[in-house]
Amino acid sequence: MINFDYIRPSTQKAALDSITKDVNAKFIAGGTNLVDLMKHGVETPQKVIDINKLPLRNIDERKTGVIRIGALALNSEVAESELIQNKLPLLSQALEAGASPQLRNMATIGGNILQRTRCPYFYDTTMPCNKRKPGTGCSALNGFNRMHAIFGATDQCIAVHPSDMSVALTALDAFVVIAGPKGERKLAFKDFHRLPGATPHIETNLQRNEIITAVEVPDQSSFANKSLYEKIRDRASYAFALVSVAVAVEMNGSSIKNIKLAMGGVAHKPWRLTETENFLRGKQASDSVFEQAATIAMKGAKGYGYNNFKLKLAPNTLVDALKKATGKVG
Ligand SMILES: Cc1cc2nc3c(=O)[nH]c(=O)nc-3n(C[C@H](O)[C@H](O)[C@H](O)COP(=O)(O)OP(=O)(O)OC[C@H]3O[C@@H](n4cnc5c(N)ncnc54)[C@H](O)[C@@H]3O)c2cc1C
Repeated sequence: MINFDYIRPSTQKAALDSITKDVNAKFIAGGTNLVDLMKHGVETPQKVIDINKLPLRNIDERKTGVIRIGALALNSEVAESELIQNKLPLLSQALEAGASPQLRNMATIGGNILQRTRCPYFYDTTMPCNKRKPGTGCSALNGFNRMHAIFGATDQCIAVHPSDMSVALTALDAFVVIAGPKGERKLAFKDFHRLPGATPHIETNLQRNEIITAVEVPDQSSFANKSLYEKIRDRASYAFALVSVAVAVEMNGSSIKNIKLAMGGVAHKPWRLTETENFLRGKQASDSVFEQAATIAMKGAKGYGYNNFKLKLAPNTLVDALKKATGKVG
C-alpha cells in the first residue's frame, strides 16, 4: 500500500473543498471496499478524506411518505431499523443478504452504492483490465467469467455491479441525493450506475468532486407487504450474488395491479426489468404468465462461457421470486 495523507473534516463544505482541490483524493466511509482496493494497489489515493464526522446518519420519514436514509447510516442499522422493516422490507432483506454481520456493521449506504466490481481480474494488477487501466483489454472476456454479466456488457468489460442493496433501491424507484460545489441534485437510482460501453472505468454519473449525502425512497405503502429479495449464491452467507431478483408487487385479488422488478449479478448496473413489469401489469398471477415474463426478461441476454448457466438460472430465479411474492407458490 502506498503512503497517503489522512484528514477528517467535520463539515460537508470542508470535505467538498478538499476533494475539489485534490484530484488524487478519495472519500472513505466504512473502508470495507476502499481499503481492500488500496491493499491490492488498485486504488492509490494520495489523500484519504474520512467523512465519518459528517452528520449524515439519520433514517427518517418525511411528511410526504418519502423515506430518507443518510449516506453514513450503516448497512446493519438500516436493515434493522423498525421504519425500514415496516415500510421497505425489500430493502431490509437485500441488506441482510449482503456480506456478513461484521461487514454490515462497518459498511455505509453511500459506500455500498459505490463499491466496485468483484471481477478477479480487476483486483489482479498483473492482468489486463480496461476498468482498472483503460485500453489494456478485458481478461474476463475469454477468461474465468463465471460471476460475470449476461446483459449490457461489451467487449471492453463484462464485470457486474456487486451491490445487493442497489438492486432493491433500483426496483423501488429510489433517488441518490448528491451534494457538490454547485449545490444539491438528485439522480434516479436507475440512472446512477452506468453500463460499460467503451468507458468501463467510469462506473457512475457521480462527479469526482461530489458526495452522496442520502438515499430517498418514495412512498411504497402499496408494495410493502408483498416484496421479496431472492439471492442465489455459492454459500448461504458471505458471498456475492450469482443472480438476484428484487420484486415488489401490488395485487388486486389474484391479478397483478402493479409490480416493480430488478435483477442483480447480471449486469454492470442493477438491471431494471421495465418491459417485464409492463407485461405483468393487469395479468392473473399464474405459472404460464410468469414463464412468459421470464422469456421477456431474458431478451438480449448473452453468456460468455463459464457464466452460461446464468441464462437458465436468471429466468428460473425470476419465476420463483414471482411465485413467492404473489403467493402463487408451487
Ligand atoms: C468479504 C466481503 C463480502 C461482501 N459481500 C457483499 C455482498 O454479498 N453484497 C453486497 O452488496 N456487498 C458485499 N460486500 C461489500 C460491502 O457491502 C461494501 O464493501 C460496503 O458496502 C462499502 O461501504 P463502505 O462504507 O465500507 O465503503 P468504503 O470502502 O469506505 O468506500 C467505497 C467507495 O465509496 C466511496 N464513498 C463512500 N462513501 C461515499 C459518499 N458518501 N459519497 C461519495 N463517495 C463515497 C469511497 O470513496 C470509495 O470509493 C462485501 C464486502 C466484503 C469485504
